[in-house]
Amino acid sequence: MSTLLSTLPRRGVCLVIAAPSGAGKSSITRALLQAEPDLMLSVSATTRAPRPGEEEGVHYYFRSPAEFEAMARNDELLEWATVFGRSYGTPRAPVEAALAAGRDVVFDIDWQGHRQLRDALPRDVVGLFVLPPSLAVLEERLRGRGTDDPAEIARRMRAARAEIAHAPEFDHVLVNADFATAVAGARAVLQAARLATGRQTGLPAFITALDG
Ligand code: GDP
Ligand code: ADP
Ligand code: 5GP
Repeated sequence: MSTLLSTLPRRGVCLVIAAPSGAGKSSITRALLQAEPDLMLSVSATTRAPRPGEEEGVHYYFRSPAEFEAMARNDELLEWATVFGRSYGTPRAPVEAALAAGRDVVFDIDWQGHRQLRDALPRDVVGLFVLPPSLAVLEERLRGRGTDDPAEIARRMRAARAEIAHAPEFDHVLVNADFATAVAGARAVLQAARLATGRQTGLPAFITALDG
């Protein structure tokens, strides 16, 4: 007796979410992870200092510049970039293990990371860019978050236009005005990516088995 399929065997999705700082990508990513229990977060390494409440290995792996350089040199990072004068990078091993197991991974990284990941994993990456409703709203959110001092907020606002200029490189784009609508959009992008024909490694065998 054959077993019933509920899904085909498939490759994992690498969902890359980028946005200018403060547009809401961490909030959206957190909501996605809550709604999608099988989704794994890629935890980045960074040389920036932890914010209050941020935990080692949960939000980031906090590393000294020397430790970060060693990781990059030893090819332990799938990609890395300098953002706001600090180094940020994606540890390679957890991502490769997840994809090999057919698990989906979400990345909260910048446009440079998206470009590098897309080059490294062209079949797996789906890009989603999150826009703020306006630059004024973006600044309000950065202030409201209360995690960055005025100089850091000014630095992030100066970088926002340049980040947004890269939005056309992404497969999908949404405006984070109403939060629930934005999360629903991100879930729809993930679900469509999961169902993409090119990702269904089990499809040829399924079709062949129809005859036998
Ligand atoms: P923190 O870093 O843990 O303080 O999180 P945030 O300040 O980014 O967000 C706090 C919570 O509010 C998270 O659970 C978000 O998912 C949620 N959140 C953020 N923005 C909105 C919003 O506009 N509407 C709603 N309903 N929830 C939001
Ligand atoms: P990012 O990760 O892109 O830097 P965050 O997820 O930290 O941004 O969001 C920045 C701030 O804006 C947070 O305080 C968050 O609660 C708030 N925020 C996120 N989405 C919305 C939204 N749709 N409406 C209002 N505030 C939001
Ligand atoms: P924050 O300091 O607000 O946590 O992050 C600052 C910026 O760095 C954000 O745009 C974030 O997406 C980006 N970032 C975080 N981790 C990585 C990473 O591993 N690689 C790259 N390229 N960018 C990252």
